[in-house]
Amino acid sequence: MTNTGPTTNVKRGPLSVLFPGNVIDFTTLRGNHDNLDPYSGFSVCSYTGDNPMHYDGCIAQLASTLGVNANNIIQPRQTHGTQVLVIDENFISLDTDQRRERLDKTDALVTTCRHVAIGVNTADCVPILLYAHGKVPMVAAIHAGWRGTLAEIATKAVKIMLNTNDADCIAAYIGVSICRNCFEVGDEVANLFVQAGYSGETIFRNHDTGKAHIDLQEINRRQLANCGIHIENIFTDNCCSRHDTSGNYFSARRMGVNSGRTFTGIMLL
Ligand SMILES: [Zn+2]
Repeated sequence: MTNTGPTTNVKRGPLSVLFPGNVIDFTTLRGNHDNLDPYSGFSVCSYTGDNPMHYDGCIAQLASTLGVNANNIIQPRQTHGTQVLVIDENFISLDTDQRRERLDKTDALVTTCRHVAIGVNTADCVPILLYAHGKVPMVAAIHAGWRGTLAEIATKAVKIMLNTNDADCIAAYIGVSICRNCFEVGDEVANLFVQAGYSGETIFRNHDTGKAHIDLQEINRRQLANCGIHIENIFTDNCCSRHDTSGNYFSARRMGVNSGRTFTGIMLL
């Protein structure tokens, strides 16, 4: 592996471009697939009903691309909660069952371990990656659907970084996810956000359909900024998982929840 980062079945993110040799951030690409099979194509997600032979093969391929052991690719078993798990050397030494127990009901990971790729699986929800390049280099991967966004899971992960790093040395990537125009929600969901104080551009109504919409990417961006991360250090991917036509991204709104996932990850070098 070279410091230019992986090129097969993944696209590199802005953090590896800004900090070459220090960190790799990436988004998996579905690649060749059968449109009739929602799990086909590249997907490492182990808990949404895919065949273990398939996702294990994809994990092995991703490990090879990243130049790490497959055991060093860590994915939480996400449940739209707010639990953040710190991955340390002790975690790495655990066996499969012990790891699975720790990763259950976890929606964000933080680590200072090098050559350990942490990531989250999404199909429209917002993946967020953080890289703190201060006293204690640290990375985080966060899954923020509407529930996680409302509960400010990103803020929770940033606070762990702020224990040992200043906010001005944190850079963030808000990855491929559903755009504001595609993210139509019921009034009951929109009302929860209004009650939490969101309004204006982040919650709006489509005048043609009458439906409420939420801008999850922008709300997460504001939460990160409220933690002290400089706006110019927050990079938002402008690719929407729902309306993108490249075939590279899974979308639960387009394909149903019983489908593969896009894995957005980060690794300290
Ligand atoms: Zn869209």
